[in-house]
Amino acid sequence: MSLVRRQFLSRAALATSVLGAPIVASAQSKGTFNWKMTSAYGKGSPFYMDGPGSATDLARRIKEMSDGRLNISVFGAGELIPAFEGFDAVRAGTVEMNHANAYFWTGKTAAAQYFTAVPFGMNFQGMNGWLYDGGGIELWNEVYAPFGMVAMPCGNTGVQMTGWFKKEIKTAADLKGLKMRIPGLAGKVYASLGVDVKVLPGGEIFPALERGVIDAAEFVGPFQDRRLGLQKAAKYYYTTGWHESSTVSELLINKAAWDKLPKDLQAVVSNASAACNVISEAWCQKANSEAMDDLVKNQGVIARPLPDDVIKALRTETDKVLAELVAKDPLAKKVHDSYFGFKAKYDRWSEISEEAYHTRVRG
Ligand code: CA
Repeated sequence: MSLVRRQFLSRAALATSVLGAPIVASAQSKGTFNWKMTSAYGKGSPFYMDGPGSATDLARRIKEMSDGRLNISVFGAGELIPAFEGFDAVRAGTVEMNHANAYFWTGKTAAAQYFTAVPFGMNFQGMNGWLYDGGGIELWNEVYAPFGMVAMPCGNTGVQMTGWFKKEIKTAADLKGLKMRIPGLAGKVYASLGVDVKVLPGGEIFPALERGVIDAAEFVGPFQDRRLGLQKAAKYYYTTGWHESSTVSELLINKAAWDKLPKDLQAVVSNASAACNVISEAWCQKANSEAMDDLVKNQGVIARPLPDDVIKALRTETDKVLAELVAKDPLAKKVHDSYFGFKAKYDRWSEISEEAYHTRVRG
C-alpha cells in the first residue's frame, strides 16, 4: 500500500471514530473481480504481450489502479485458446477479455476492418481523433452489440512498413507474379495487381522468404521485422505502409461481464486502455527509430519509398476493394462513411498543421 493511501486511510479511520460511521468503503465490500484475458499473440511477443502498453502491462496497470480489485490473468495465444478464437471465447463468456486486432474478425462482421486499419487510412493522430471524438468507438460498440461485446482501443503500432522484397520494384508491372506474404484487405489489393498472395503466420515468414518460397513479405515495422530476421532474406525494404497507416490493438470485453463491473472499475479499464494506446505507440517510435538506423547502417538494408506509379495503382485497386466490401454490408458502409468523412476533414487540417510541419518547417 502506498504511503499516501496509508495516510488517507488512517485519517479516514480517525474520522470514523469521531463521527461513528464508516466513511470509506473497504476494497472488500466493493468486491474483487478475477478475469481472464487471452491474446492473439504468443507469450512474450514484444509490443502485444510484453513491454510498455502491452497486454500484460495493461493488466498490471488495471490491478494497480484498482488497488487489486480487478485482477486479470493474461494468456498468450495457445495457452488457453488458439490465437484467433478470442472473439468466440469472449462472446461465449469463457474469458472476459481478449487483446488482439479487430480486423481478425472480418469473417464475423466486415465492419471490424475499420477499427484496426484500412489501406490509405488515417495515421495514429487522425485515427485517435475519429475513435475518441469522431464517433469511432460508438460505432465499434454498435457493430459488436449483436455479439454481446464491447471494445476499445488499447494500443497502436503507428505506421507500419510496406515490407521486404528480394528485387527492386520500379513499376506496378514488377508486382505481377510476385509471391508475397500479405494478409487481409491489402492482400486483396495486391492480388488484383497480379501478386500471388500467401498468408503465413509470423514465425513462418523468415524461412519462406529465405528459401524463396515467397519473394516478398509484409509483417509490422523495423523492430518486429528485424526480430524475425527478414533483413537476412531480402534487402529492399519499402517504407511507409500504405496498407496499415496505423494499426489499432483492440480490447474486446464480454458485455455481461462489463455490466457487472462497478462504474469506478469500468473507468479504470477505460483509462488504463487509453494510457496503453499512447504508451505502446510511444514505445514503437523509440524501438523503430533505433532498429531502422541499425538495419540501414549495419545490415545493408536498402530502404526506400514505393515509386509513385505503384502507389497510384495500389490506391485505385484499394478504392475498388473497399467499394466491394461496403456494397455487401450496410453496417460496414455506415462505418466506412463515418471513417472517410472524418478523414476528409482531418486530411485538410493535417495538411496545414502536422504535415506542413514535417515537410515545410522542420526541414
Ligand atoms: Ca502488418
